[in-house]
Amino acid sequence: MGMNDNHSMDYLDILCNRFGGRLIGSDAYDNAAEWCASKFEEWGLEVWMQECGEVPVGFNRGPWFGRMVGGNGMTLHFATPSYTVGTKGVQRGHVLIEPRTQAEFDRMKKELNGAWVLIGGKSNGYPIDWTEKGDSIRAAAIERNIQIDQENREIAAYNRSLQNMSEKEKAKKKLVEKETIPHVYEPAMFYKEMVEAGILGIIQSSPVPITALYDRKNLGKMTFDNLPPIPDIKLDEEQYAVIEKMAKRREYFQLEFDIRNHFKMGPVKYHNVIGVMKGTEYPDEYVIAGGHLDAYDVATGGVDCGSGVAPIMEAARLIAEAGGKPKRTILFCLWAGEEFGLLGSRYFVESGTVPLENIANYFNRDYTPFVPMGITVPDAMYEDFVNVSAPLADAHPDFPFTVEMRKGEPGPRPTNAGGSDHAYFAMNGVPTFSFNIRDPKGYNFDYREIWHTDRDTYNKSIPEYQEHTATCTAVVLYGIANLDHLLSREGTYKE
Ligand SMILES: [Zn+2]
Repeated sequence: MGMNDNHSMDYLDILCNRFGGRLIGSDAYDNAAEWCASKFEEWGLEVWMQECGEVPVGFNRGPWFGRMVGGNGMTLHFATPSYTVGTKGVQRGHVLIEPRTQAEFDRMKKELNGAWVLIGGKSNGYPIDWTEKGDSIRAAAIERNIQIDQENREIAAYNRSLQNMSEKEKAKKKLVEKETIPHVYEPAMFYKEMVEAGILGIIQSSPVPITALYDRKNLGKMTFDNLPPIPDIKLDEEQYAVIEKMAKRREYFQLEFDIRNHFKMGPVKYHNVIGVMKGTEYPDEYVIAGGHLDAYDVATGGVDCGSGVAPIMEAARLIAEAGGKPKRTILFCLWAGEEFGLLGSRYFVESGTVPLENIANYFNRDYTPFVPMGITVPDAMYEDFVNVSAPLADAHPDFPFTVEMRKGEPGPRPTNAGGSDHAYFAMNGVPTFSFNIRDPKGYNFDYREIWHTDRDTYNKSIPEYQEHTATCTAVVLYGIANLDHLLSREGTYKE
């Protein structure tokens, strides 16, 4: 079935193209979670919808458009971070470069009304901090610049006094000219004042592909009555440079944006979706595979983490529809909130959902759609993995699967969380060996291209690799579930 009737890409199509970007707090996440649960049920699995937290307000992203009116009339390539506001319909306005000093602000405050404002710095995907805390950081920078101006006037006076001295005298007194102090800078230096002056929004230069994250700083305290005031646009850096130059020349043109970022009243709970295939002989022992169901909504989570979720679902279907009856319980875990800090998998581990000492292995898959071609495990697991993966050794002519014994000493258990949803399992001593994945056919996939950018769509996935991942996952999970003993943890971590 895995080789001839594989549904991995069908599930990815539904996740990406029917539901879309699956941010926790969004309708798309809840819709996807409900659908995944319904599929697990359809295949005869038990489903745990595990509530693992809430966000104070919800966010739903609609489409977004922008163009230049006048000039070269270009279509704008941009994005906005999640939990930032959209426009009030189609909004057209002139373009200004942000003021950096109080004097500059005072000179242009009337003109700021109805303007799109280019701010400095490079986007890292996060919005400008629009809260009072952000205002106070910017106010301190403005204050500091007033001081710097004063200090620079003193330096200039001092330097002038040296100019009246002879070289000899200066050398004798060891006097040299002082350098002026550069101004400090915070992007959108006059944010609050510009909002009060009536700007339409701010625009920052972004590397391409465009990364768009979420308002991490402020989401925890955001309320429906206190949402960000203006759009925060991250624009393709080449277009930004063109527009900046035109604005500097005071050319006559406008920009027009239509951005449909919508909120919903919170709190909005989010859930892990866990498909449970109960063990017939050792129901309290577990083999687990997981990937995260949530995804940034600037794209559709085609790879991050469609690479994990779609084949894990298909592995569940393959085992169920082939009539599999595992001796140990197999859990197919679709995690919530990985992108917001491994929230769902952390909750699963720390809330004692299952006894951690009874987990044979946790298989994680995330952010790369490559094909499993083996696994590297400690000596104590080697025989078991060779046996359970035997059907994969030559199942697919292009993707032979080999088990390797780990060379050298085990590393220590990790002490801080990073990377992906295996982290809290590993920190708590659970083995988290995952497949060795490869790109034997040369698809030239670049994870930096898709990682939290507007490119992470369905068509960045690699169908034949994704499909074979489902087959490998099904075979290995089922094999480990059916061993007559729990996998040995000997040599997993340095004791
Ligand atoms: Zn991920």
